[in-house]
Amino acid sequence: MKLRDFKEVKQLLASPKKIVLVPHRNPDGDAIGASLAMYHYLNNKGHKVTVVAPNDYPNFLKWMPGSKDVLKFDMQNRQAKNAIDEASIIFLLDFNALHRVGSDMENTLKDFIGNFIMIDHHQQPDDIAKYLFSDTSICSTCQMVYHFLEKLDEVTAIDNEIATCLYTGIMTDTGSFRFASTTSVTHRIIADLIDNGANNASIHNHVYDTNSYGRLQLLGCALSNLIVIHKLKTAYITLTQKELDEFNYQKGDTEGVVNYALSVENVIFAAIFIEDVEQKIVKISLRSKGSFSVNEFARNHFNGGGHDNAAGGRSEVSLDATVSKFLKILPGYKTELLNSYEA
Ligand code: 5GP
Ligand code: MN
Repeated sequence: MKLRDFKEVKQLLASPKKIVLVPHRNPDGDAIGASLAMYHYLNNKGHKVTVVAPNDYPNFLKWMPGSKDVLKFDMQNRQAKNAIDEASIIFLLDFNALHRVGSDMENTLKDFIGNFIMIDHHQQPDDIAKYLFSDTSICSTCQMVYHFLEKLDEVTAIDNEIATCLYTGIMTDTGSFRFASTTSVTHRIIADLIDNGANNASIHNHVYDTNSYGRLQLLGCALSNLIVIHKLKTAYITLTQKELDEFNYQKGDTEGVVNYALSVENVIFAAIFIEDVEQKIVKISLRSKGSFSVNEFARNHFNGGGHDNAAGGRSEVSLDATVSKFLKILPGYKTELLNSYEA
């Protein structure tokens, strides 16, 4: 977005509007954090604001301020559609293509005739928004929202609730400030958010120290299913629907599990394959270290995408067939895998 665009957006937001905020399907901490931060900011400015998430999200995010006001498009369809019908501005937060909200909600959003404003940090954003604020070098959409408020000259509007939401998204998308995308600017913003009321210890506790017994048992199962292919610097984990059921799987329980595969010494490429019998798919999460792009890998083979070092995709064949396909593709990447280097 150019300076002139920010002026236009500022002008647009200068009078009360009906606004809808949309995170991607299966929203994570960054998507919900960005949506709720913008929710509080715009509410405080006198707009009528509704967050419409495509579907539900994990319990470890539900403590966030404003979470109880979030509508789920699949569960509260009529209310959600009304809010979208009435809106003149829709923010698309933490995703780069309309299909990331799922096909039902995508069809509704396609008919929207107002202004889309996209704030995102994923690669190759689709050209669907009147205003596109995108930077793939930035660690999180929550940091992008902070910069967005800077550009609007509104950093002083960041209160305790906004600070809490932004802190949460930056924390979750950076693996608690450890990924390479975490910069000194990120840390300065985090410092500012703490000064404005984000309680870091409490946020970490809410997100990371609220495991159910079942979730930890499921993690144990996932770790015992870990396979390491040393000669290709690759490790992967599978979870069948039966295993998920046995440990009373709840949404979000598998979040972060793929990182254990990536933590194996010398491994630079990690995958997790999770069977979803209801949707008839296998959900895939991919992670890498260095120059090996899992975004490309997911786009080329598993109908997905994401970032260079964190991406996802899906497969419509069985879990076994999906893993076989993966193992067949893998040797073709031997050179890239063995030569992946840190930028
Ligand atoms: P996760 O593996 O945690 O679900 O997702 C990692 C990253 O990849 C996130 O930035 C997420 O938005 C992206 N991603 C996950 N699944 C998909 C997918 O099916 N399609 C696309 N385009 N991106 C995905
Ligand atoms: Mn994100």
